Amino acid sequence: MSKIHVLNQDTINKIAAGEVIERPMAVVKELTENAIDADANAITVEVKDGGKALIRMTDNGVGMNEEDVRLAFTPHATSKIDDAEDLLRVSTLGFRGEALASISSVSQLEMVTKTRNELMGCRYEADGGKERTLEAVGCPDGTTILVRNLFFNTPARLKFLKSSPTEAGYINTLIERLALSHPDISFRFINQNQTKLHTSGNGNLKDVIYHIYGKDITSNLLEVDASEVSCQVKGFIGKPIISRGNRNYMNYFINGRYIKSSTIHKAIEDAYQPYTMQHRYPFTVLHFTVAPELVDINVHPQKMEIRFSDAQGIYQSVYHAISEALKHREFIPEVSLAS
Ligand code: ADP
Ligand code: MG
Repeated sequence: MSKIHVLNQDTINKIAAGEVIERPMAVVKELTENAIDADANAITVEVKDGGKALIRMTDNGVGMNEEDVRLAFTPHATSKIDDAEDLLRVSTLGFRGEALASISSVSQLEMVTKTRNELMGCRYEADGGKERTLEAVGCPDGTTILVRNLFFNTPARLKFLKSSPTEAGYINTLIERLALSHPDISFRFINQNQTKLHTSGNGNLKDVIYHIYGKDITSNLLEVDASEVSCQVKGFIGKPIISRGNRNYMNYFINGRYIKSSTIHKAIEDAYQPYTMQHRYPFTVLHFTVAPELVDINVHPQKMEIRFSDAQGIYQSVYHAISEALKHREFIPEVSLAS
């Protein structure tokens, strides 16, 4: 008898889920990214117990019909790419076709969804990935997904979660970043029945920054708007006087995606270097637009890492855009000049 055997699908799904769904925040990330990909302009996330007991995501995007609902929960089923070649120019946030199957396999999930073209929507229910219900219901256009009792069937994972306020804090940070990455979408975050964030979705990035970081930061911003052949850089950076003691205030997005990149970190810090003291880090909210074929986001299942085909070129674009914005200013604390 051989000692090697192929794992059953349920086990495969749970292992796959472990890669993408580390904690409640990862569920919220996947659900909200799907909503953005579905062209929603209003997204509400509500959580209870830091997302362990309940995560509810509602969007007003394109919705799904009954046939697509079933497929959406099938591993490796996606509407976003057809083949490996499409990976070279992905313009959506998702493309792996894993999230819904993964989330469903480790929770009790309910989804209600309707497309604009259909009169009736449908309701789907699954328990640990097993379908319980799929029925027609009347409901508004768009999609609502409820994820209850996350990791109820993977106790080891559950044990590693932090306290509810800490988990809720991670989700709050994520939603702030989403709001900064998409000022044209109205985001609402409700934690334990309390609204923690509600952005207008009016498309004005400075309004979102004000909403999240307040007056002191917003009144000390410089605008960045630089277009180069390979990389467009737009957004706001803080004057050196509002530098921070850690790197948590360096926000940047590539093609609408929050990522971390040592190349970009270095470009930003190098540009600030003449103006800041050691161990002080700039405040930035920058949007980079790069041709999709010049970046590889398929490095890690969580898509937080990115590879550039021309890292040096990206470094130069970012460094120059920021240096230019900093060059034209005098950095003395602003005193009001009586007029
Ligand atoms: P991916 O986003 O990588 O395609 P998912 O498992 O996250 O994989 O979703 C599977 C499919 O379900 C998506 O390709 C999309 O067609 C559909 N879908 C998921 N969420 C939504 C939503 N909120 N609105 C409309 N369609 C959705
Ligand atoms: Mg997705």
